[in-house]
Amino acid sequence: MVKAVYPGTFDPVTNGHIDIIRRAANVVDSLVIVVSVNSGKNPVFSMEERMDIIREVVKDIPNVSVIKSEELTVSCAKELGASIIIRGLRAVTDYENEMQLAQTNRYLDENIETMFMATSKEYSFLSSTVVKELAYYGADISALVPEVVEQRLKEKITKI
Ligand code: ADP
Repeated sequence: MVKAVYPGTFDPVTNGHIDIIRRAANVVDSLVIVVSVNSGKNPVFSMEERMDIIREVVKDIPNVSVIKSEELTVSCAKELGASIIIRGLRAVTDYENEMQLAQTNRYLDENIETMFMATSKEYSFLSSTVVKELAYYGADISALVPEVVEQRLKEKITKI
């Protein structure tokens, strides 16, 4: 039984993330989406909101579950019995950070492998930051995020 974790901030989840989730879920038996606190970022959506949104959009994928984590990804993976960390790669700009992260995680636990999935080309420019920026200026983001994200972002923005 191959179990993997897909960690991230998901503030909010985009169609780029969902593409990785669906493709990863096809090649492992069980995929756990790990929503990280990420002290370095100041999220727009709370942890509970981010988890609720992801649960809603992945509810049709039977081997995917969602949890939160306030600890290191490798510790979380070990506790869950997962041997793989999934990360998505967009452009070369992701490469340096992702390589450093993967090597750090390997240093922490050499039994857990990081596996990269290449973004689908239609999502290669897409990030949570881009989506928030576009939503703030009222641009159409309907092709970039699930409907629930579009609605929740509109609500957030009108509250600012
Ligand atoms: P983090 O703060 O951990 O980078 P993110 O939510 O920004 O969290 O991203 C989680 C993972 O999803 C990262 O591996 C990131 O590279 C990947 N990812 C984000 N957007 C895309 C996309 N459009 N296509 C493929 N992978 C993506």
